[in-house]
Amino acid sequence: MKITEISVYQINLPLEHPYWLSGGRLKFEVLDATLVRIVTDAGLIGWGEGTPWGHTYVPAHGPGLRAGIATMAPFILGHDPRRVLDVERAMDLALPGHLYAKSPIDMACWDIAGQAAGLPIADLMGGGSRTPRPIASSVGAKTAAETRTVIERYRARGYLAHSVKIGGDVDRDIARIRDVESIRLEGEIVLYDVNRGWTRQQALRVMSATRDLNVMFEQPCETLDDIAALRGKHSAAVSVDETLNTLQDAARIARDGLAEVFGIKLNRVGGLTKAARMRDIALAHGIDMFVMATGGSVLADAEALHLAATIPDANCHAVWACQDMLTVDIAGGRGPRNVDGHLSLPADPGLGVHPDEDALGPPVAVYT
Ligand code: MG
Repeated sequence: MKITEISVYQINLPLEHPYWLSGGRLKFEVLDATLVRIVTDAGLIGWGEGTPWGHTYVPAHGPGLRAGIATMAPFILGHDPRRVLDVERAMDLALPGHLYAKSPIDMACWDIAGQAAGLPIADLMGGGSRTPRPIASSVGAKTAAETRTVIERYRARGYLAHSVKIGGDVDRDIARIRDVESIRLEGEIVLYDVNRGWTRQQALRVMSATRDLNVMFEQPCETLDDIAALRGKHSAAVSVDETLNTLQDAARIARDGLAEVFGIKLNRVGGLTKAARMRDIALAHGIDMFVMATGGSVLADAEALHLAATIPDANCHAVWACQDMLTVDIAGGRGPRNVDGHLSLPADPGLGVHPDEDALGPPVAVYT
Protein backbone atom coordinates (compact mmCIF):
# COMPACT_ATOMS: atom_id res chain seq x y z
CA MET A 1 0.00 0.00 0.00
CA LYS A 2 1.31 3.44 -0.92
CA ILE A 3 0.39 7.02 -0.10
CA THR A 4 -0.62 8.60 -3.41
CA GLU A 5 -2.12 11.94 -2.36
CA ILE A 6 -2.04 14.32 0.61
CA SER A 7 -4.68 17.05 0.77
CA VAL A 8 -4.51 19.85 3.32
CA TYR A 9 -7.53 21.81 4.58
CA GLN A 10 -7.59 24.93 6.73
CA ILE A 11 -10.64 25.73 8.84
CA ASN A 12 -11.36 28.15 11.63
CA LEU A 13 -12.81 26.69 14.80
CA PRO A 14 -14.45 29.54 16.77
CA LEU A 15 -14.55 29.18 20.54
CA GLU A 16 -17.94 29.55 22.18
CA HIS A 17 -16.43 31.74 24.89
CA PRO A 18 -13.28 33.86 24.51
CA TYR A 19 -10.50 32.19 26.42
CA TRP A 20 -7.70 33.62 28.52
CA LEU A 21 -4.67 31.74 29.70
CA SER A 22 -2.72 32.53 32.83
CA GLY A 23 -2.69 36.10 33.98
CA GLY A 24 -4.86 37.16 31.07
CA ARG A 25 -1.75 37.02 28.88
CA LEU A 26 -3.21 35.06 26.04
CA LYS A 27 -6.66 35.61 24.64
CA PHE A 28 -8.17 33.30 22.05
CA GLU A 29 -11.39 33.50 20.09
CA VAL A 30 -10.74 31.13 17.20
CA LEU A 31 -8.43 28.17 16.58
CA ASP A 32 -6.66 27.75 13.24
CA ALA A 33 -7.13 24.06 12.41
CA THR A 34 -5.41 22.02 9.73
CA LEU A 35 -6.93 18.78 8.49
CA VAL A 36 -5.02 16.30 6.39
CA ARG A 37 -6.54 13.71 4.08
CA ILE A 38 -4.22 10.94 2.97
CA VAL A 39 -5.26 8.76 0.03
CA THR A 40 -3.69 5.38 -0.74
CA ASP A 41 -3.53 3.24 -3.85
CA ALA A 42 -5.57 0.66 -1.92
CA GLY A 43 -8.54 3.00 -1.76
CA LEU A 44 -8.22 3.58 1.99
CA ILE A 45 -8.40 7.20 3.13
CA GLY A 46 -7.07 8.48 6.45
CA TRP A 47 -7.64 11.76 8.26
CA GLY A 48 -5.42 13.71 10.58
CA GLU A 49 -5.75 17.01 12.40
CA GLY A 50 -3.32 19.51 13.85
CA THR A 51 -4.79 22.40 15.80
CA PRO A 52 -2.33 24.41 17.87
CA TRP A 53 -3.84 26.28 20.81
CA GLY A 54 -3.65 29.69 19.16
CA HIS A 55 -0.46 31.38 17.98
CA THR A 56 0.79 32.73 21.30
CA TYR A 57 0.74 29.66 23.55
CA VAL A 58 3.85 27.69 22.49
CA PRO A 59 6.02 27.69 19.34
CA ALA A 60 3.35 26.28 17.02
CA HIS A 61 0.91 27.90 14.62
CA GLY A 62 -1.38 26.94 11.76
CA PRO A 63 0.60 28.56 8.91
CA GLY A 64 3.79 26.93 10.20
CA LEU A 65 2.10 23.57 10.37
CA ARG A 66 0.93 23.81 6.77
CA ALA A 67 4.37 25.00 5.62
CA GLY A 68 5.91 22.00 7.38
CA ILE A 69 3.62 19.61 5.55
CA ALA A 70 4.51 21.27 2.22
CA THR A 71 8.19 20.62 2.97
CA MET A 72 7.66 17.01 4.08
CA ALA A 73 5.04 15.90 1.54
CA PRO A 74 7.47 14.82 -1.23
CA PHE A 75 9.25 12.61 1.30
CA ILE A 76 6.03 11.03 2.59
CA LEU A 77 4.40 10.20 -0.75
CA GLY A 78 5.01 6.60 -1.78
CA HIS A 79 5.43 5.27 1.77
CA ASP A 80 3.20 2.53 3.13
CA PRO A 81 1.12 4.39 5.77
CA ARG A 82 0.83 1.22 7.88
CA ARG A 83 4.57 1.39 8.45
CA VAL A 84 4.24 4.34 10.79
CA LEU A 85 7.89 4.15 11.89
CA ASP A 86 9.05 4.49 8.28
CA VAL A 87 6.82 7.53 7.82
CA GLU A 88 8.09 8.97 11.11
CA ARG A 89 11.73 8.58 10.01
CA ALA A 90 10.96 10.11 6.61
CA MET A 91 9.44 13.15 8.31
CA ASP A 92 12.28 13.48 10.83
CA LEU A 93 14.85 13.33 8.02
CA ALA A 94 12.96 15.78 5.83
CA LEU A 95 12.37 18.32 8.61
CA PRO A 96 14.10 18.05 11.99
CA GLY A 97 11.94 19.32 14.85
CA HIS A 98 8.60 20.95 13.96
CA LEU A 99 6.83 18.13 15.78
CA TYR A 100 3.43 19.83 15.60
CA ALA A 101 3.55 19.69 11.77
CA LYS A 102 4.13 15.93 11.90
CA SER A 103 1.27 14.90 14.16
CA PRO A 104 -1.56 15.18 11.58
CA ILE A 105 0.39 13.02 9.12
CA ASP A 106 1.11 10.44 11.83
CA MET A 107 -2.55 10.48 12.85
CA ALA A 108 -3.79 9.90 9.29
CA CYS A 109 -1.35 7.00 8.87
CA TRP A 110 -2.59 5.36 12.08
CA ASP A 111 -6.16 5.88 10.82
CA ILE A 112 -5.35 4.01 7.60
CA ALA A 113 -3.41 1.30 9.44
CA GLY A 114 -6.39 0.72 11.73
CA GLN A 115 -8.80 0.53 8.83
CA ALA A 116 -6.52 -1.91 7.01
CA ALA A 117 -6.32 -4.13 10.10
CA GLY A 118 -10.02 -3.81 10.90
CA LEU A 119 -9.13 -2.49 14.39
CA PRO A 120 -9.56 0.76 16.31
CA ILE A 121 -6.19 2.53 16.58
CA ALA A 122 -5.98 1.79 20.31
CA ASP A 123 -6.28 -1.94 19.66
CA LEU A 124 -3.74 -1.78 16.85
CA MET A 125 -1.38 -0.08 19.31
CA GLY A 126 -1.66 -3.12 21.53
CA GLY A 127 -5.02 -2.98 23.23
CA GLY A 128 -7.45 -0.32 24.28
CA SER A 129 -9.39 -0.07 27.53
CA ARG A 130 -13.15 0.32 27.06
CA THR A 131 -13.49 2.18 30.33
CA PRO A 132 -14.90 5.62 29.43
CA ARG A 133 -12.37 8.36 30.12
CA PRO A 134 -13.40 11.40 32.16
CA ILE A 135 -13.09 14.65 30.20
CA ALA A 136 -11.33 17.58 31.80
CA SER A 137 -12.80 21.01 31.28
CA SER A 138 -10.59 24.00 30.65
CA VAL A 139 -11.42 26.95 32.89
CA GLY A 140 -9.70 30.12 31.69
CA ALA A 141 -7.98 32.61 33.96
CA LYS A 142 -10.82 34.58 35.50
CA THR A 143 -12.07 36.03 38.76
CA ALA A 144 -13.14 33.66 41.54
CA ALA A 145 -16.82 34.31 40.77
CA GLU A 146 -16.34 33.72 37.04
CA THR A 147 -14.38 30.56 37.79
CA ARG A 148 -17.31 29.20 39.81
CA THR A 149 -19.69 30.03 36.94
CA VAL A 150 -17.57 28.19 34.37
CA ILE A 151 -17.10 25.14 36.62
CA GLU A 152 -20.87 25.03 37.17
CA ARG A 153 -21.43 25.21 33.40
CA TYR A 154 -19.19 22.17 32.89
CA ARG A 155 -20.69 20.32 35.84
CA ALA A 156 -24.08 20.72 34.16
CA ARG A 157 -22.59 18.86 31.17
CA GLY A 158 -21.38 16.07 33.45
CA TYR A 159 -17.73 17.04 33.75
CA LEU A 160 -15.99 15.85 36.90
CA ALA A 161 -12.46 16.96 35.95
CA HIS A 162 -11.39 20.58 35.61
CA SER A 163 -8.19 22.29 34.55
CA VAL A 164 -8.32 25.68 36.24
CA LYS A 165 -5.94 28.23 34.73
CA ILE A 166 -4.00 30.29 37.26
CA GLY A 167 -0.56 31.91 37.15
CA GLY A 168 -1.15 35.62 37.49
CA ASP A 169 -1.06 37.60 40.68
CA VAL A 170 0.10 35.42 43.58
CA ASP A 171 -2.45 36.58 46.15
CA ARG A 172 -5.26 36.28 43.62
CA ASP A 173 -4.11 32.78 42.66
CA ILE A 174 -4.08 31.68 46.31
CA ALA A 175 -7.58 33.10 46.81
CA ARG A 176 -8.92 31.40 43.67
CA ILE A 177 -7.43 28.03 44.64
CA ARG A 178 -8.97 28.29 48.11
CA ASP A 179 -12.32 29.27 46.60
CA VAL A 180 -12.37 26.38 44.10
CA GLU A 181 -11.31 23.90 46.78
CA SER A 182 -14.17 25.13 48.96
CA ILE A 183 -16.72 24.13 46.29
CA ARG A 184 -14.91 21.01 45.09
CA LEU A 185 -17.22 17.99 45.07
CA GLU A 186 -16.41 14.49 46.24
CA GLY A 187 -14.62 12.68 43.39
CA GLU A 188 -13.92 15.80 41.34
CA ILE A 189 -10.45 16.10 39.79
CA VAL A 190 -9.04 19.63 39.78
CA LEU A 191 -5.70 20.50 38.23
CA TYR A 192 -4.34 24.03 38.73
CA ASP A 193 -2.64 24.89 35.46
CA VAL A 194 -0.12 27.71 35.73
CA ASN A 195 0.88 27.61 32.05
CA ARG A 196 4.43 28.73 32.94
CA GLY A 197 3.03 31.86 34.58
CA TRP A 198 5.11 31.96 37.78
CA THR A 199 8.69 32.80 38.56
CA ARG A 200 10.38 30.39 40.97
CA GLN A 201 9.68 32.54 44.01
CA GLN A 202 6.05 33.10 42.99
CA ALA A 203 5.63 29.34 42.61
CA LEU A 204 7.05 28.69 46.07
CA ARG A 205 4.83 31.37 47.62
CA VAL A 206 1.64 29.82 46.22
CA MET A 207 2.74 26.24 46.86
CA SER A 208 3.62 27.10 50.48
CA ALA A 209 0.39 29.00 51.08
CA THR A 210 -1.76 26.13 49.77
CA ARG A 211 0.21 23.24 51.30
CA ASP A 212 -2.74 22.22 53.48
CA LEU A 213 -4.96 21.70 50.41
CA ASN A 214 -2.79 19.02 48.79
CA VAL A 215 -3.50 20.20 45.23
CA MET A 216 -1.67 19.55 41.96
CA PHE A 217 -0.03 22.23 39.82
CA GLU A 218 0.64 21.95 36.12
CA GLN A 219 3.66 23.63 34.52
CA PRO A 220 4.32 26.07 37.38
CA CYS A 221 7.32 27.74 35.67
CA GLU A 222 8.78 28.37 32.25
CA THR A 223 11.46 25.68 32.04
CA LEU A 224 12.40 22.25 33.37
CA ASP A 225 15.39 23.94 35.06
CA ASP A 226 12.95 26.14 37.00
CA ILE A 227 10.82 23.16 37.98
CA ALA A 228 13.94 21.22 38.99
CA ALA A 229 15.06 24.15 41.18
CA LEU A 230 11.81 23.94 43.16
CA ARG A 231 12.10 20.24 43.97
CA GLY A 232 12.53 19.55 47.64
CA LYS A 233 11.20 22.98 48.55
CA HIS A 234 7.50 22.10 48.36
CA SER A 235 5.26 19.09 48.76
CA ALA A 236 2.79 19.70 45.90
CA ALA A 237 2.29 17.23 43.06
CA VAL A 238 3.46 18.62 39.72
CA SER A 239 2.28 17.90 36.19
CA VAL A 240 4.39 18.94 33.23
CA ASP A 241 3.02 19.57 29.75
CA GLU A 242 4.48 22.60 27.97
CA THR A 243 8.06 21.45 28.61
CA LEU A 244 7.26 17.86 27.66
CA ASN A 245 7.97 17.99 23.94
CA THR A 246 10.52 15.30 23.17
CA LEU A 247 11.37 11.83 24.37
CA GLN A 248 14.51 13.34 25.89
CA ASP A 249 12.31 15.69 27.95
CA ALA A 250 10.29 12.70 29.14
CA ALA A 251 13.45 10.80 30.09
CA ARG A 252 14.84 13.75 32.05
CA ILE A 253 11.58 14.40 33.90
CA ALA A 254 11.32 10.73 34.83
CA ARG A 255 14.97 10.25 35.78
CA ASP A 256 15.24 13.46 37.82
CA GLY A 257 11.82 13.13 39.41
CA LEU A 258 10.60 16.51 38.15
CA ALA A 259 6.90 15.61 37.92
CA GLU A 260 4.37 13.08 39.14
CA VAL A 261 2.17 13.49 36.06
CA PHE A 262 2.78 13.88 32.34
CA GLY A 263 0.35 16.04 30.38
CA ILE A 264 0.87 14.49 26.95
CA LYS A 265 -0.35 16.76 24.16
CA LEU A 266 -0.38 14.83 20.93
CA ASN A 267 0.01 17.70 18.51
CA ARG A 268 2.89 19.17 20.48
CA VAL A 269 4.85 15.92 20.80
CA GLY A 270 4.44 14.92 17.14
CA GLY A 271 1.61 12.40 17.22
CA LEU A 272 0.68 8.97 18.51
CA THR A 273 3.92 7.24 17.51
CA LYS A 274 6.10 9.53 19.60
CA ALA A 275 3.54 9.90 22.40
CA ALA A 276 3.37 6.13 22.91
CA ARG A 277 7.05 6.14 23.88
CA MET A 278 6.41 8.88 26.44
CA ARG A 279 3.56 6.80 27.83
CA ASP A 280 5.93 3.88 28.33
CA ILE A 281 8.55 6.04 30.06
CA ALA A 282 5.81 7.34 32.35
CA LEU A 283 4.50 3.88 33.20
CA ALA A 284 8.02 2.62 33.87
CA HIS A 285 8.59 5.42 36.40
CA GLY A 286 5.28 5.53 38.28
CA ILE A 287 4.13 8.67 36.49
CA ASP A 288 0.42 9.12 35.74
CA MET A 289 -0.96 10.88 32.68
CA PHE A 290 -3.42 13.34 31.27
CA VAL A 291 -3.81 13.05 27.50
CA MET A 292 -4.91 15.82 25.17
CA ALA A 293 -4.75 16.61 21.48
CA THR A 294 -3.89 20.26 22.24
CA GLY A 295 -7.05 21.64 20.67
CA GLY A 296 -9.29 21.00 17.75
CA SER A 297 -12.32 19.12 16.54
CA VAL A 298 -13.74 15.76 17.53
CA LEU A 299 -11.07 14.16 15.31
CA ALA A 300 -8.37 15.51 17.61
CA ASP A 301 -10.37 14.41 20.66
CA ALA A 302 -10.65 10.92 19.16
CA GLU A 303 -6.90 10.72 18.62
CA ALA A 304 -6.27 11.61 22.28
CA LEU A 305 -8.82 9.04 23.37
CA HIS A 306 -7.05 6.26 21.48
CA LEU A 307 -3.78 6.95 23.28
CA ALA A 308 -5.61 7.33 26.61
CA ALA A 309 -7.21 3.92 26.05
CA THR A 310 -3.75 2.32 25.83
CA ILE A 311 -2.91 3.60 29.33
CA PRO A 312 -4.05 1.43 32.25
CA ASP A 313 -7.23 2.88 33.76
CA ALA A 314 -5.55 3.63 37.09
CA ASN A 315 -2.80 5.69 35.45
CA CYS A 316 -4.94 7.81 33.12
CA HIS A 317 -6.49 10.67 35.08
CA ALA A 318 -8.51 12.26 32.27
CA VAL A 319 -8.55 13.38 28.67
CA TRP A 320 -9.02 17.01 27.81
CA ALA A 321 -11.47 17.48 24.95
CA CYS A 322 -12.05 20.68 23.00
CA GLN A 323 -15.34 19.72 21.34
CA ASP A 324 -17.58 21.40 23.92
CA MET A 325 -15.70 24.70 23.54
CA LEU A 326 -16.39 25.12 19.79
CA THR A 327 -19.33 26.59 17.90
CA VAL A 328 -18.79 24.46 14.78
CA ASP A 329 -18.86 20.71 14.35
CA ILE A 330 -17.10 19.36 11.28
CA ALA A 331 -18.29 15.79 11.86
CA GLY A 332 -22.04 16.21 12.22
CA GLY A 333 -22.27 14.79 15.73
CA ARG A 334 -20.32 11.64 14.89
CA GLY A 335 -17.34 10.29 16.80
CA PRO A 336 -16.70 10.16 20.55
CA ARG A 337 -18.92 12.72 22.27
CA ASN A 338 -19.38 13.86 25.81
CA VAL A 339 -21.76 11.56 27.64
CA ASP A 340 -22.03 12.40 31.35
CA GLY A 341 -18.55 13.90 31.28
CA HIS A 342 -16.90 10.91 29.64
CA LEU A 343 -15.71 9.85 26.17
CA SER A 344 -15.96 6.25 24.99
CA LEU A 345 -13.64 4.62 22.49
CA PRO A 346 -15.19 4.37 19.00
CA ALA A 347 -15.87 0.83 17.80
CA ASP A 348 -15.08 1.51 14.14
CA PRO A 349 -11.67 0.61 12.68
CA GLY A 350 -9.05 3.33 12.53
CA LEU A 351 -9.67 6.70 14.12
CA GLY A 352 -13.41 6.03 14.23
CA VAL A 353 -14.56 9.40 12.91
CA HIS A 354 -14.09 11.35 9.69
CA PRO A 355 -15.20 14.91 8.89
CA ASP A 356 -17.95 16.03 6.54
CA GLU A 357 -15.86 17.01 3.54
CA ASP A 358 -18.55 19.48 2.47
CA ALA A 359 -17.98 21.35 5.75
CA LEU A 360 -14.30 21.85 4.97
CA GLY A 361 -14.45 23.60 1.62
CA PRO A 362 -11.75 22.99 -0.98
CA PRO A 363 -8.23 21.96 0.12
CA VAL A 364 -5.62 24.70 0.39
CA ALA A 365 -2.98 22.31 -0.98
CA VAL A 366 -2.87 18.91 -2.68
CA TYR A 367 0.37 16.94 -2.99
CA THR A 368 0.64 14.03 -5.41
MG1 MG B 1 -1.54 22.67 30.74
